[in-house]
Amino acid sequence: MLTGRRVADPLDWLDLPGGYRLAVVDGGAGLAATPMVHRDGWRRALPGDGAAEALLEMLAAQRGSNIFGRFAVRSWTSRPARTERAIGVDQTNESVIVGDTAVVKWATHLQEGPHPAPRRITVLREAGFTGMPAPWGMVTWQPARGDETVVAYVDEYLPGAVDGWTWAVEAMTAAALHHDPEAIIPTAQALGTLIADLHAALSATASTAAAADADRWHRTALESLDTACATGDSACGAVLRARRAEVASEFGVLRTLAGTTVLDGHGDLHVGQVLRSGDRFSVTDFDGNPVLTAAERVKPIPAVVDVAGMAQSLSHVAIVARRYTDLDPAVLHAVEGKARRTFLDTYATRLRGLGHSALFDPRPLRALRLIQVMREMIYAAEHLPRWMYVPDAALPALLDEEETP
Ligand code: ADP
Ligand code: MG
Repeated sequence: MLTGRRVADPLDWLDLPGGYRLAVVDGGAGLAATPMVHRDGWRRALPGDGAAEALLEMLAAQRGSNIFGRFAVRSWTSRPARTERAIGVDQTNESVIVGDTAVVKWATHLQEGPHPAPRRITVLREAGFTGMPAPWGMVTWQPARGDETVVAYVDEYLPGAVDGWTWAVEAMTAAALHHDPEAIIPTAQALGTLIADLHAALSATASTAAAADADRWHRTALESLDTACATGDSACGAVLRARRAEVASEFGVLRTLAGTTVLDGHGDLHVGQVLRSGDRFSVTDFDGNPVLTAAERVKPIPAVVDVAGMAQSLSHVAIVARRYTDLDPAVLHAVEGKARRTFLDTYATRLRGLGHSALFDPRPLRALRLIQVMREMIYAAEHLPRWMYVPDAALPALLDEEETP
């Protein structure tokens, strides 16, 4: 409990300089990374208590990667920072800003390993990718049974950063209010460039999909279709059930993907994973797709999985924009189409320019966008019913979309 300050006995801990610990605690609802401070006994450290500063001090004092028992500490910084303030607790992390230069994220729900982030972030760093908050360090923990997982991230702090559910909604709203679809072009181009650069930087991980991979993608899509069709009395549920055969046949393309190029992609890409700070766009959150099993989550994917996730999220942004502002539907539709086409064109052109066009096979784009909508349906049904208006609007729009890819 954050306020109670008392913590169950840790299962394990990493000593940090100056009388702090990074503990792994069984909080009842799973394992949590918990910063602790020694003041008349050990208690949970809150922002301002200095535990995040202590982790930064440890990172600054070491080079490369070091093992401490079942913890691994990777450091890419030699720069300490002082003065902590909270950004707040979100779904998976408790984040503390230190000195307005770094963010320490304590993982409040340890994800079952193997964890996709360490390898992806290491590859991106080594490739010199600058389209993410610069990673300063990372701490992982190896459970007695199971695979390594992340317990803390330390990243460059991006001042005033907001994610795409804010900046993209604002950008589409502004373009629609001004009856100027072209106004969305620079933003969509920045996004296309960012994701092409991301994939180019991850290209060292590329390999070729086997027939078994293609069959698994197909089977998983059909299973999601079953789940999404059973989500109850939503409007999109009714549409999906009525057009189930059409959607199932759309998924046939997945079975044909043996031999396609795969890479360690982002895996959970949508506008919410892109932060905007001033004019700078940065990809974050390499925790992988939460709806997959841990084993599946670390597997390589076709680049088009990320591209489809981003492209479809732009449609969802337009639906959110319309919910909150009285916008001309025809103009908004034009803005959304312009955003998506510009994103896709810029991505493909940039990737080609970087010499990596072989990474991108757009054939399953539409099938993967449908999977993204089904995921929103399932998520809304299971966790957030008030989100259902998004797939309610997105599913018929996508099924009836007349656009050549
Ligand atoms: P989660 O996926 O658990 O929600 P994220 O890591 O995606 O956590 O971050 C949640 C929010 O915290 C972001 O939307 C952003 O506003 C803020 N944030 C995350 N990383 C940074 C950063 N490096 N600099 C500034 N703000 C950040
Ligand atoms: Mg996130």
